[in-house]
Amino acid sequence: MSDKYLKIRERMVDEQLKPRGITDEKVLQAMCGVPRHEFVDDALCSRAYGDFPLPIASGQTISQPYIVACMTEALQLQGHEKVLEIGTGSGYQAAILSRICEQVFTVERINVLLAGARRVFDKLKYYNISTKLDDGTLGWQEHGPYDAIMVTAGGPRVPEPLIEQLADPGRLIIPVGDQHLQELQMVIKNEGVLESVSLEKVRFVNLVGEYGW
Ligand code: SAH
Repeated sequence: MSDKYLKIRERMVDEQLKPRGITDEKVLQAMCGVPRHEFVDDALCSRAYGDFPLPIASGQTISQPYIVACMTEALQLQGHEKVLEIGTGSGYQAAILSRICEQVFTVERINVLLAGARRVFDKLKYYNISTKLDDGTLGWQEHGPYDAIMVTAGGPRVPEPLIEQLADPGRLIIPVGDQHLQELQMVIKNEGVLESVSLEKVRFVNLVGEYGW
């Protein structure tokens, strides 16, 4: 079946991602390949590839394509990794990750969102994504440690269980700040040492949980 959205995705990559400095071929290919419109409400399909976030159920949002690409690129995935995502939401970010690593584990606290994401993963045959309904600030201990961890909701600090479940070497990215504005923080674990780097300013929905708000 031909994908009538492919051309629109190619344009998204050429106009929104490349000019802003996304260069990782694996990330660009994943952004070109994953049908983002499948992850939003039917009524929003025509806006799925716009340069903005969109609402999903339960008052949550699917991030702007550029932010998804930027956070994914920052993890520097090579293909063999086991990745943990906190905040499945629509499932789009997990889907992008699943195209460029070995296995994705994703945790969401809202059941209707998780159920919706699972349906899309099945439809698209993205079989290397495992999902769990839980407070993701606690991580997902049984499958750790993870080569990379991405949190897609904003918290007051980096949850300690996630640092513990991060492999060495490993990279974790999370928006940290107050409830309105955060900074993407990258935590790099290497030979037992933790290094923190701040990337760009962002606005995410709240990370709600034991180590969140
Ligand atoms: N990655 C998602 C973005 C969803 S918005 C996507 O691509 O669509 C952030 C999500 O984080 C919301 O669905 C919210 O319910 C979820 N969330 C917030 N706090 C959480 C927690 N402690 N554990 C798991 N999920 C959480």
